[in-house]
Amino acid sequence: MIRQFELVERVHSYDPDADEDVLNRAYVYGLKKHGTQLRASGDPYFSHPVEVAGILAEMRLDTSSIVTGLLHDTLEDTDATRDELARLFGDEVAKLVDGVTKLSRLEVQSETTKEAENLRKLVLAMSTDIRVLLVKLADRLHNMRTLHHIKEPGRRKRIARETMDIYAPLASRIGMEKVKRELEELAFGELNPDGRGSVLARFGYLREKGERIVPEIEAELVKTLAEGGLVAQVSGREKTPYSIWRKMQQKNVSFEQLADIMAFRIIVADIAQCYQALGLLHGRYQVLPQRFKDYISVPKPNGYRSLHTGVIGPHGQRIEIQIRTGEMQEQAERGVAAHWIYKQGGPSTDAPQYAWLRSLIDILDKSSNAEDFLEHTKLEMFQDQVFCFTPKGKLISLPRGATPIDFAYAVHSQVGDTCVGARINGRMLPLRTQLANGDQIEIVTSKAQTPSPTWERFAVTGKAKAAIRRFIRVRQREQYLQLGRSLLEKTFHEEGYEVTEKGLDGVKANFKQASTDDLIATVGAGLVGSRDVLMAVYPGLKQQRKAAIGGSGAEVVPISRGRGKASKLRDGGANEHGQIPITGLIPGMAVHFARCCHPLPGDRIVGIITTGKGVTIHTIDCATLESFSDTPERWIDVGWEAVGDASAAYTGRLKITVANQPGSLSSLSTVIARHDGNISNLRIVNRSMDFFDMVIDVEVADVKHLADITAALRATPAINAVERARS
Ligand code: MN
Repeated sequence: MIRQFELVERVHSYDPDADEDVLNRAYVYGLKKHGTQLRASGDPYFSHPVEVAGILAEMRLDTSSIVTGLLHDTLEDTDATRDELARLFGDEVAKLVDGVTKLSRLEVQSETTKEAENLRKLVLAMSTDIRVLLVKLADRLHNMRTLHHIKEPGRRKRIARETMDIYAPLASRIGMEKVKRELEELAFGELNPDGRGSVLARFGYLREKGERIVPEIEAELVKTLAEGGLVAQVSGREKTPYSIWRKMQQKNVSFEQLADIMAFRIIVADIAQCYQALGLLHGRYQVLPQRFKDYISVPKPNGYRSLHTGVIGPHGQRIEIQIRTGEMQEQAERGVAAHWIYKQGGPSTDAPQYAWLRSLIDILDKSSNAEDFLEHTKLEMFQDQVFCFTPKGKLISLPRGATPIDFAYAVHSQVGDTCVGARINGRMLPLRTQLANGDQIEIVTSKAQTPSPTWERFAVTGKAKAAIRRFIRVRQREQYLQLGRSLLEKTFHEEGYEVTEKGLDGVKANFKQASTDDLIATVGAGLVGSRDVLMAVYPGLKQQRKAAIGGSGAEVVPISRGRGKASKLRDGGANEHGQIPITGLIPGMAVHFARCCHPLPGDRIVGIITTGKGVTIHTIDCATLESFSDTPERWIDVGWEAVGDASAAYTGRLKITVANQPGSLSSLSTVIARHDGNISNLRIVNRSMDFFDMVIDVEVADVKHLADITAALRATPAINAVERARS
């Protein structure tokens, strides 16, 4: 804790006329009023106002501001009253302490009040006297420096968030860059320790690699300027983690792509020398386009003046350079406090240097601007993530628990598919290793590698999991293709035929397959019998076999009655009994049931004549019919025969959503079987955590049969939605 005489000495060092008596009285009064109160750190409470007064003295503020710092919490936390403060320390101090207290009360409400609104109230309070804001900033700065003593994480977060959203931007607006930077860094460390940690880890890594080049570049710049006859003070620094983080977020660039990891400040004697230095540097180094800004001829609204430029520096790095005079530097660091006038009556906001303050209030008073103002300073919260770097310094964010597999797929699918190992911070580690913040990861790949099903167990990102599954599916298809091919060859050979591409191509559509490979894979997966394919390619063979077996035994081909019918109908418009259950057809003309709408006996139907194909039967509400509206001559009136064939099966198509839970598929098939339906095809079209969307083909006698099944399915708890599919 700063002692009484130290504080007085500090103030006297820059303001010899300061009123020593009032400083001493305020110190003693505050000490007495706060008494035995303690801070969260266990320190006496009064250590806080004293530190705040110390910060204000560093800003070299007037005595009233220092006294206000010492007394700023007495109205809120002790039995002191405004009248008492006015009597003991004067109206000015009483008013200032009252203003700071009002700001503190705003804070308590800020959990429930909208931030932008808070900000406007805050600015209104501030505009009565700029010193209220300065004391408040010093108060906040000390509270942020000691934030780690507060035990409740929620409260720490709220204070940090408010600092980031309101106080750091305000400090910036009044030109106090130094205070702003410290507030931001402290808040960043609380709000996103992982993000900050990863930037610091990256700094550490670069330093370890021996890239201690800041002093070298400094010397080089001094030399370049000296050769041009300029004496300059050059200082370089790494930018703060938060400013780097924000640029990486905003510009979506990697660490090394940032021009301003390193910034160099050049201080010269006067304005003419600023431009001279600029000329020397631009003559020597390659200038980065669009980095040059002249804030000397056009100062920022907060009074900031400087030249900014970016060049490819002596060591080939992109560096940022600020060129200014000592006076401009003073202004840049201390902002409004740099203009303090130590005269009787204190500073006045009517002075010309406060013109910016009035325009600031104008800007902030308009709500949309206040929102914008908050918007770009908002910090994203990444609680559940880890941040890692590629060897080239690109930042990759992943969910917590992610492994090198996730990292590899995040870099590129190709990298993921071929990864065999990972070098984490230079060490080879297993692919299941969980990544930590700031890790630098190099993925080792091999062309011979393919994804393994076991990877899925330790991948956490959707991208990696999907890629692994996709690969496994492709491989499974290859196996199905092999199996299907050998099944078909065996079946065909038994009847003395060869499997030919042409033969399969001619019948693939019967089995609703887009290519012959699809057909073969479907056979391999057991969804279509190889015998059915044989029958489809050689329909004559089927007739012979039936004749050989004879009579009723051949009526039903159990595996695929529906498909049997499809080919049967192609044969010439007659079913096994020599009838088609449809009236109004032209005798001898081939008939198909449209696959878009799957007409069922009982549906209202129309026929469409297609050259070379015969008649296609659609339901009357089928969307496909629209494309035939210009050719009415192709439409024919058809209907179902009154007595349907009881043993005939037609394919009805249903779109069903079932819960993704054990037993739901079996209850689905049980319900359909119980109602004498037969599932001839099932396709899952969408699969999520909670639900499966699927398309099911059910063999039914007629539309009423399908309606019965639909109703029964809708009554089943595990089934969420059922509707008849129209395509
Ligand atoms: Mn305080």
